[in-house]
Parts: sequence; C-alpha cells; structure tokens
Amino acid sequence: MTKLIYLALSIILFSCGAKSSSETKDITVTEVKKTPVNTPVFDADSAYTYVARQVAFGPRVPNTESHKNCGDYLASELTRFGAKVYQQEATLTAYDGTKLEARNIIGSYNPDNKKRILLFAHWDTRPYSDEDPNPDNYKKPIDGADDGASGVGALLEIARQINLKNPGIGIDIIFFDAEDYGVPGFARDKYNDTSESWCLGTQFWAKNPHIPNYRAEFGILLDMVGAKNAVFYKEFTSMRYAARYVDEIWETARNLGYGKYFINANGGGVTDDHEFVIKGLGIPCLDIINYDENGFGDHWHTQNDNMDNISRETLKAVGQTVLEVVYNR
Ligand SMILES: [Zn+2]
Repeated sequence: MTKLIYLALSIILFSCGAKSSSETKDITVTEVKKTPVNTPVFDADSAYTYVARQVAFGPRVPNTESHKNCGDYLASELTRFGAKVYQQEATLTAYDGTKLEARNIIGSYNPDNKKRILLFAHWDTRPYSDEDPNPDNYKKPIDGADDGASGVGALLEIARQINLKNPGIGIDIIFFDAEDYGVPGFARDKYNDTSESWCLGTQFWAKNPHIPNYRAEFGILLDMVGAKNAVFYKEFTSMRYAARYVDEIWETARNLGYGKYFINANGGGVTDDHEFVIKGLGIPCLDIINYDENGFGDHWHTQNDNMDNISRETLKAVGQTVLEVVYNR
C-alpha cells in the first residue's frame, strides 16, 4: 500500500495526551461482552516464517516468475490448511497500460454458513521503490516484507488455526493481487495518481466476486502489520463505514494488552483495498494499517522494506486480536 489521502490532523490532535481519559470511558463497554470461548493461540514464529517464505520468492510483482511461484505457494498453503480454495485469474490494466496477469487467491471455511467474516490482505509487491532516499532505486521492486507479506503471513497463521479448531462461522480469507501497482511518485507529472490506479485485484473481485451475491457481515484488511513499533490508528474510511467493528477490534486489542499498537484515536484516511470492497459490495470493512502523522514508516516503498523490519511481537498483536474477534461472535 498505498497513500495517505487525508492529512492526519486528527492524529495530531488526539496523540498529544487525551488517551487515558478515553480509555477509561471505553472500559464500561467491555461489560456487555459475551463470555469468551477459548481462542486459539496465534503462533508468531509460524506467522514470521510465512512472511519470510514469501520474501524468499523475491519481489512478487505481477508478470514475474517470483509472483507466479509465490501465488502457487499461497494457494497450496490454503489447501493444506483445509480451505476451499478459489483462484481468480484476470488480466488487469495498470495506470501506464501494462497488462498484468493477476490472481486473487481465496480460501473459504464453512462455505455454507451464512454468517461470514471476510479477512483480506494484498499479496503482490510494489514494482517501484519510489519513496527510497536514493533516486537510483526508484525503479527497483521492493521485498515487501511488511507491505504485502506481513498481512498475508498473519492470515496464513489464522488459516492454520481455523483448520485446527473450527470457529463455527464462515470465514473467507482473500489474498488480493495488483494492489501496489499505483502511479509512482516519479511519474505523477505524466499520470494522475487516482485511487483507481491502486487495488486493481480488489476492484476486479468487487465487480466479479468468487460467489455470486457474495455477502459477509464485515471485513478486516491487514496491510503493513509486521513492522517493529507499528501503530494502528482508527482509519478514516474504516470509521466512516465500519465504526462499530473498529471500536470492537481496538477494544479487544486493548483488553489483550496490545493497546500500544492499537491506538485509541482517529487517524487520517488511506486509499486501500477496503475502500473498494465497501464501495463495490456494500460490506463494512476496516483497515488495520501502520501509519501516523508522518506517513507509513521510513521503510515504506523503499529498499528497506525487508525482513529486518519484521517483528514477531507486532504480528502477534494483530493476529491474536483478529483470532479473538473471529472466535467470539
Ligand atoms: Zn504499498
């Protein structure tokens, strides 16, 4: 991912010190929660390994061998973890006219259950390092350890846990392709950096879902969820369309002791895959994404988005929180 579309004024206002009072206020909401069932333990080592495995294929840029091999790997892992797997192939057109051989990879659990939650991430990686401090690197692809592989790695571990213990509701895990082929910084004089130049796989799926009339109660997008010291604010579009789920998840994270990652404050808006699921299918979706008032972190869209930045603790905070939500509905 992607880009910050609204200046994060609200973060600046909220991050200066009003946190403890808002936390106190929210604690009363906890009382109404159901008795928790035994949520599986998210294994951070396992998730870390799934991130490393993807990175080891090389950059997952559409039309490359690394991309194809990693796609095959992801589909086989979902199969191994007991999901019903759909592979949706499409030729998508990038901002500059490049035809991208793209593949959305979908794993469904309890496919006949009407009560469903959608969990998603993008698995492709950016063909450019257009935010790199060194302009010589602008046209090099990124490893995408955080931007891409982290969300997918966390979801693979969640798939493994779902296979070990059925949550009793329908779960769809979707790895979307061609998210990160949006207009690069160095070409913005020539091409308009529209939201539609990003998230091509999601836009395709929203028009052609793998199941006709696909419905889910809500969706959770994981994007850049692996960096050391990541922070997740309540993203603007998520709050606009899925506030009750954002509040539930952020509160769950706090109750699990992950409040230092899940900041109880509103953030700016980002262009990301959730926007197109909301717009296309009317499913409320939220984005768990690492950013603050300075942007998406120094490694974002640079050569430094590599395994050195990946933290088991951050993956654990996100993965355990999502499992808790999935197993307590
Ligand atoms: Zn990106």
